[in-house]
This record gives sequence, structure tokens and C-alpha cells, in this order.
Amino acid sequence: MIDCQCPNHNTVELPECIARLNDLAYNLWWVWQADARELFRMWDYPAWRRTRHNPVKMLRSMTQTDIDRLAQNIPFRRKLERVMMRYDAEMQNGGLWFPGVYPEHKRSTIAYFSAEFGLHNSLPIYSGGLGILSGDHCKEASDLGVPLVGVGFMYPQGYFRQRIPAHGWQEAVHEAVDFTDTPILPVMNGNGDRLTVPVRLDTRDVLVRAWCVRVGRVRIFLMDTDFEANAPWDRELTARLYGGDQEMRLQQEVILGIGGLRVLRALGLQPTVWHMNEGHSAFLVLERIRELVQTGMTYEQAHQAAFETSVFTTHTPVPAGHDAFPFNLVERYFWHFWDDMGLDRERFMQLAAHHDGWGNNFNMTVLAMRNSRYINGVSKIHTAVSGKMWQNLWSGQPAPMISITNGIHTPSWVSGEIDRLLDRHLGPDWLQHHDDPALWQRVYDVPDHELWNVKQDLKRKMFSFIWDRARQRWIEGEADATQLLASGTMLDPEALTIGFARRFATYKRATLVFRDLERLKRILLDSNRPVQLIFAGKAHPADEPAKHLIQQVVNLAKDHQLGARIAFVQDYDMNLARYLVQGVDVWLNNPRRPYEASGTSGQKAALNGTLNLSVLDGWWPEAYDGDNGWAIGGRNHRDEGEDQDAPDAESLYQLLEQEVVPLFYQRDADGIPRGWVQAMKESMRTVSPAFSLRRMLKEYTERAYLPAARAAAARPPA
Ligand SMILES: *Cc1c(COP(=O)(O)O)cnc(C)c1O
Repeated sequence: MIDCQCPNHNTVELPECIARLNDLAYNLWWVWQADARELFRMWDYPAWRRTRHNPVKMLRSMTQTDIDRLAQNIPFRRKLERVMMRYDAEMQNGGLWFPGVYPEHKRSTIAYFSAEFGLHNSLPIYSGGLGILSGDHCKEASDLGVPLVGVGFMYPQGYFRQRIPAHGWQEAVHEAVDFTDTPILPVMNGNGDRLTVPVRLDTRDVLVRAWCVRVGRVRIFLMDTDFEANAPWDRELTARLYGGDQEMRLQQEVILGIGGLRVLRALGLQPTVWHMNEGHSAFLVLERIRELVQTGMTYEQAHQAAFETSVFTTHTPVPAGHDAFPFNLVERYFWHFWDDMGLDRERFMQLAAHHDGWGNNFNMTVLAMRNSRYINGVSKIHTAVSGKMWQNLWSGQPAPMISITNGIHTPSWVSGEIDRLLDRHLGPDWLQHHDDPALWQRVYDVPDHELWNVKQDLKRKMFSFIWDRARQRWIEGEADATQLLASGTMLDPEALTIGFARRFATYKRATLVFRDLERLKRILLDSNRPVQLIFAGKAHPADEPAKHLIQQVVNLAKDHQLGARIAFVQDYDMNLARYLVQGVDVWLNNPRRPYEASGTSGQKAALNGTLNLSVLDGWWPEAYDGDNGWAIGGRNHRDEGEDQDAPDAESLYQLLEQEVVPLFYQRDADGIPRGWVQAMKESMRTVSPAFSLRRMLKEYTERAYLPAARAAAARPPA
């Protein structure tokens, strides 16, 4: 565990017998501990719901009477004691994978930089897959004992919440995050003052302060600039995730890469390995080289040292998706910098120069790739596509990349119901071995009716959740009856239910299934075998075409001819994602190939017995075996630019008509669809171990972190 200065400043005065609630609330460890979540429900169930599962907020809103009453609740105190005993044992490093297998690297530190972290809803500093992956990475690092520290932003306005008014055009609501309601702690320096570090922006110094989030054994340091010491315009710099113009974005990235490194230094941390999750933090390598040159190395030596210990993960298979800045803008922010690196302007710009079709720009992916020994893509297809996309950096040879396919943090995404079922049939310690494929063979021992009944429970829970949200909107006068209908109030818990929920970006083709409305109508409205579709997802506020797609779906959901068999549930986030991936029968994914770098929501679905119906893109080609779900469009790969929409839609309809619907409704005398349940088991068995974050983090460790740490150890300290 890293020793750092983050005292529990925000904590609430509690009597001794329940004082440790403070420790528990301020460590997101509880998020993936079933007993800790039970404890919070036992504490005050209405408050648990009202605060949207935020124990910090629950703590801070307690009255003296509440506190006294809780202190006298003996069963609660006993349970708290048991949970905290486990907590204390787990915060030690005993028995963990990393220190057990690699004791010689116990003192290594891996610094992990990401612009977003999806840890829990109460900390809205993520927008989608990239953030969820970072959050899951840190949670698994805690479970495995990988010595990792995270670096990111504490955005005062977080990511927006989505409202869909009657006209169906998404509205973005930016709510100020009340920092005292989140599980973050101020980072202090040795004198007991707030720790701040200066970052040079143009002609001025901006001060950056940090917050600490505890994620089990791991700490994440989140930066912001919104405090008195900074000018009003600089206080806005970290206000939002992916907001502002290009210049603001560059300033944010300077803070992330350079400010982030300085925060770690100010805390006395000496990371051995530096992992950049996407190019947003790539300025980090410049600061590392500058530091080394300042100790007396030549530029070449410094570059080599930084290169050998850098890891870079790219996530974007579309050239336009990579951050790039005009040279003159970069010059304004770095004219004082290149001298200290032992470079002149020309050589400095060449570090990241990339011709994007219009001209040369300073490209963050190029900067990261040229300065990292370990570069990886996030699925096999994505790695191949990226390697080709960047081949001009390696004189026409594919970029030297490794492929590490994304996974999910199993304890965070498994439902309580499936967890308990697997406890009974895989063994009570199944979570400790969840990346072992042999263990999952035993999923075939689960009696069909048990698995099927659990799935029905999960489905009912999802509908209650959707209806509850609709009721809330109704009470608040936010929606009329048609809008409520479109948000799912008339959905049928017995019908085959297909979910499509993800960021709305055009390449994901949310409206593909509507291509032939008459045909879809026949599928949905079959009175013996009805089918329904649930959609959710946010469009980036600047993405007009994506907002148009949302509007289309919302309008179709209101169309009486489609029989209220379509719903759009607003404000997709981690919590809604949990209910949907667990509750629906089929998870639909139909991006244009090869634009889905990996995707992980289908992995969450499979873990919970939901079947994937997906285009063979991202992670799915590595998992699909013919019996564990369906492949839209088959294996024949069409090239970019060719019309994929018509054939993929045709394939989707055929699969629904001939395979998915018949299999679901083919029931035996007990009302159980044996073939379907068989596929659920096959899907759980094949997907869960291989697409876990545990398998993924072990790969990062063995293929990147350890070789990089060895390179660092082999080098005399500068
Ligand atoms: C898992 C998750 C994602 C990423 O999954 P995709 O398959 O890429 O959509 C995005 N958003 C939320 C809220 C998630 O939970």
C-alpha cells in the first residue's frame, strides 16, 4: 500500500462502535463486496435508494438521532465488524497474486494515466467504455495486488446527465458535483497544507491540486484547478470531461500528463513503469525526458530510458479519433520546454508530427507510440487495424504492437443472483478463481430450472427499475403519458427482450434494426412469440448525427404501430448498464466493422446469462464459437466503404426470425427453453474467464509491466 497524505478530512463524527463506517464509505472497495453492499442496505434502505447508492452522502446526511439509533443496532454492528475484519485482512498484501509470484517486484510502482475513471455512479468522471475499463483496471489491480497508482481528473461538473424531452432531442444537463458527497479525500503535503503543483500554461503558472480516491489497495489521484489560487478562466480548465475547444483540450492534456507526473513526484512516488491509457496523457513522456535531461543525460539517453519503461494502450481504430494539435498551438504551450529536453523547435515538433491529409499536426498517438516500448491494441482485430493504420511510423511495416483484449472486473459486474448461484455450483470461492477456465466447466452442473429462474428474477428486477424511473419522471411532472410509454412502461416481462445500450455514435448503427420496418413489425408483434427492444445511450453533446439517431429511436418508441414494443430509457450510466446487461435476454451489438475497438458490455451480459447477438467485431470474434450466441453478418469480412448496412440488416432479421425467436420460445413441459439455457451456459463458460479483467491485467503485467520494470532495474539510477 502506498503511503500518502490523504487524511480522512471529510469524515463524520461517529461513536466508536460504528466509527469505521467512515473507512468503508471512503474506500470504493465496497462497490464490489456483496457483504458491504448488504450492510449499507441494512443501515438505511430508503437512504441507500435515495442517494443512488452513495454511502458518503448517507453518512453526511445523518442526524444525531440517526447516529444514536444506528449505534444501538446490534445486528448492524456485528455485520459491520465482520465486514471490517475482512477489509483489514484484504488491505494487507498477504496471499495475493502479484507479490506472491513476483516478490522481487514488490517495490515497483506502475503509474496508470487516464482521462476518465468509471468506478461508481457517485463519481461521475467517466463517459463510456474507456472510463469503465480504467476503473475496472484499478479494481482488479487491488484484487491481484499489482502495485498501481492511478492519475486522472476530478471534474467539478462531471459528465452530463441526459434528458429526453417530448421532441426527442437529447438535452445535456451539467450538474455541479458536490465534492463533499463523493468518496474523495484532499491530498495534503508534509506541512498539513493542501498539496499543489505548478504547471506552466503559455505565460502563466496554473496550480493543480489533487484528491485521492481509495479503490481497495489502489489509490487514484484526481486533479483539478477549480480553487482560489487560479484565475477564473483557469479554474474552468478541468470543469468537464471532453468539453471546450481544441485549446482547452490541449491545456487539459498538459495538466494530465505533466501535472499528473508532478503530483506523483510531490507525493514522493517514484514509478518504475508508466502506462498511458489512450493518448490524452502522452505529454507525460516529454516531462519524463525533460527530467532525465536535467539530471545530465543527453536527449538520446533520456529518450531511451523513458521509452523502455512506457506502456501505451490505443483504443481508437478511426484516424480522426486521435487527438492532434496545430504546431503553432503546441508552440505557445511548449516554447519554454524543448530547451530543457535538449531539443530545438524543429526536432521537438518532429516527435509527434503526423500528416492527417490536410497538413502536419502534433499527434498525441504518434507521440505516445514513438516513446513507448510496449504498445497494445484492445482486441486482435483492433490491433491488426491499428498496426496498419500507423505503419507509416515504421517505414511501411505494421506497428510493433501486442494485442491484449479488454475484459471486465467480474466481481463488479456479476449480479448478486448469479453470484449466489455460482457459489452453490462452482464453489463458494469461485470469485477467487474466476479466470480459471476449468472452474467454469462446472456451469454445466447447474440445473436448467435454477439458471432459468435466476434469469427471470433478474429480468423482473430490470423492469421494476425501468418502471420506477418512469414513475419518478411522472411524479416530477417531467414527462407526459406518451413519453412514459416510450420509456418502457408498457414492456412485457414475458416477452423476448433485446437490449441495445451504449454510447450513441453513428458507427454503432443504433437504427440498423429499423431498416425494414414492416419486417421488424412482424417480428415484434407476433402474438405467440412477441419480441421487444430496449435502447439506452448518450450522444456526445457535439455529435449532431448521433442525437438525430436518438430522436429517431424515441419517435419509433412512440409509434403506436410498433405496439409499445420499443423503449428508450434515458440517462445511460453504470447503474442502468448493470440492470440492462443482467436483465435482458439478448444483447444486440451491430457496429460497422472494424470500428468497435473492443466493447465490453457484451462481456458483462454473458457473465449474467444474457446471449450476445453481435457483429464479429471487437472482442466477439475471439469468443464466438457457434454455440454461445450469434454472429450478425457471418465471418466474411467486408471492406471499409462497402455497404455493410443492407447485408447486416438482412442477416440480423434472418437470425431473429430463424434462430433467436424460435430457440427462446421452444419450451418443454416445465416451461423451460432447454436449448436457450444450454446456450446461456455455453456463453457463461466461454466468455467469463477469458474476458475477465483478471486475465487482461495478468497479460499487461507479464507482457508489459514486468519487462518494463526489469528494464528500469537494469539501468543505474540517474
Ligand atoms: C460497460 C460500459 C460501457 C462500455 O461497453 P460498450 O460495449 O463499449 O458499450 C459503456 N458505458 C457504460 C455505462 C458501461 O457500463
